[in-house]
Amino acid sequence: MANHLTPFLIENRGVRGFAVEITEGIPELLGWREYSPDMLRLLGHALAATPLLAADIGEGARFNLQFQGADGQPLKMLVAQVDQQMRLRGMAKCDAGTDGDFQKLMTRGTLACMLEPKAGGADRYQALVEILGENLSEALEIYFAQSEQLRTRICLGASPTKFAGLMVQRLPEGCADDDWVHVYHLFQTLQEPELLAVDAETLLRRLFIEDTVRVFPSRSIALQCQCSHAQISAMLLGLGEEELRPVLVEQGRIDVTCEFCGKSYGYREVEVRELFNAAKASAEAGRTLQ
Ligand SMILES: [Zn+2]
Repeated sequence: MANHLTPFLIENRGVRGFAVEITEGIPELLGWREYSPDMLRLLGHALAATPLLAADIGEGARFNLQFQGADGQPLKMLVAQVDQQMRLRGMAKCDAGTDGDFQKLMTRGTLACMLEPKAGGADRYQALVEILGENLSEALEIYFAQSEQLRTRICLGASPTKFAGLMVQRLPEGCADDDWVHVYHLFQTLQEPELLAVDAETLLRRLFIEDTVRVFPSRSIALQCQCSHAQISAMLLGLGEEELRPVLVEQGRIDVTCEFCGKSYGYREVEVRELFNAAKASAEAGRTLQ
C-alpha cells in the first residue's frame, strides 16, 4: 500500500498515534501548478497533516485544513481536504515565486480546521488555528492543546517525492505524567529528514524501542482529485443562468478548470442550455409527482 494512514498504540504508556506516508500521485495532483520549493513543502505538510487530523471523522464527512490570505498577501489560499474514505487532495494559490517559512507565508492570514458532515448530518464545524510556532506541526499542537484539551505532538515532512507525518496523543485515561514525558522526549528527537527517510513501522520501533507499540492495520490514502463532470455541472447550476450569461455572450462557451488538479471542463452554449433545461424539467417532474 503506497499511501497509507497507520494507527498505533503505545500500550504501556497510554498514548495513541497515527502515521501517514504519501509517495504516490504527488506529481499527478500538484505538478500542473508551479510551486516554489517552500510552497511545495508547506502544502506537503498540510497534505500529510490532514489525514492525521481526520482519522476519526464520521461516515460521509469531509475534513478541510484551510488557509485564507489577508489582502495583498502573496499566499492567497491553501486547502488540504480529505474525506472519510481517505481521498485526499490539496492546492495552494499564490503569487509566482512566493516563498518563505511557515510564519512568513501564513502570518496575517486565517487558518482553520473545518469539518463538513455528510449531507443532512450535523452542522458544519469550524475552528481557527492560530498561526503560532515555527511550523505547521507546532501550530496544530497548540490547536489540539487549546481546543481539544489533548496533549499532542506532531512531526511533518515533505519532499518533492514524499509527504509524511507522525502524531502521538496522550489518551485521557491510562497515561501518567511520567509516561507522557517519556514519549514527549523521545518524540523530540525526531526530525524531518529522518521522518522522510524511514518507513513508519521502522521509525516507531526505533523511536520507542523500550515500549510496546501495537500497530493496527493501515488504511489506504488516495492522493487524487474527485472532480467530475457531474460535480462541475452542479456547480454551474448553483451559479445560475444569470451569472453565466455574460461569459456565454463574450466567449460562446464556458470553460471551468478544477483548482485542485487542473483538469478542464468545457461546455458549449448549447450544452449549458441543455443543462439548465434538464434541471428545470426534473424540478417540474418533482412537482407533478407530489
Ligand atoms: Zn480536479
